[in-house]
Amino acid sequence: MAFELPPLPYAENALAPHMSAETIEYHYGKHHKTYVDNLNKAVDGTPDADASLESIIMKAEGPLFNNAAQVWNHTFFWNGLSPNGGGAPTGAIAERIDADFGGYDAFRAQLSEAGLTQFGSGWAWLVEKDGALAIMKTPNADLPMKHGAKALWTVDVWEHAYYIDYRNLRAKFIDVVLDNLIDWNTVNANLAA
Ligand code: MN
Repeated sequence: MAFELPPLPYAENALAPHMSAETIEYHYGKHHKTYVDNLNKAVDGTPDADASLESIIMKAEGPLFNNAAQVWNHTFFWNGLSPNGGGAPTGAIAERIDADFGGYDAFRAQLSEAGLTQFGSGWAWLVEKDGALAIMKTPNADLPMKHGAKALWTVDVWEHAYYIDYRNLRAKFIDVVLDNLIDWNTVNANLAA
């Protein structure tokens, strides 16, 4: 059974003006889809064709890992955004952020710093590791499950994530996502899972 490009949980223009339909068209419709297509080519006719995405990610290296992890990362990224998102956290995650970071402002500063200082392509993450919330940054396709951490939320800081809407302004993109798109309901669901 081939891997599939999962549907977005919103319309392609639903995140505009913060994330344009053109960005979604390229980032989801071309970049994400290409990772799915390349993963399917890599596993076709091998035992991995019937493996779970997570099991491939945990054991693979090189191009197979890169494509499998980028499929997972992008699906996770899209599911963590909402047209009704942004701003201060709600629910259980709000209490955990207060306890583990000392408040939303400190959390936000650490997450923004991680995204901004990830040299080249990569991801900034809110994770749970060893029972505590933490911020991670990973290069290229790398992701928390390879480091014993549970992903709760991520922002893609590859240039393809922001160049159409914000050109080179990665910090602006991260601010806009945090102010307008982060879906705390999904973060709470990931925390509880
Ligand atoms: Mn991307």
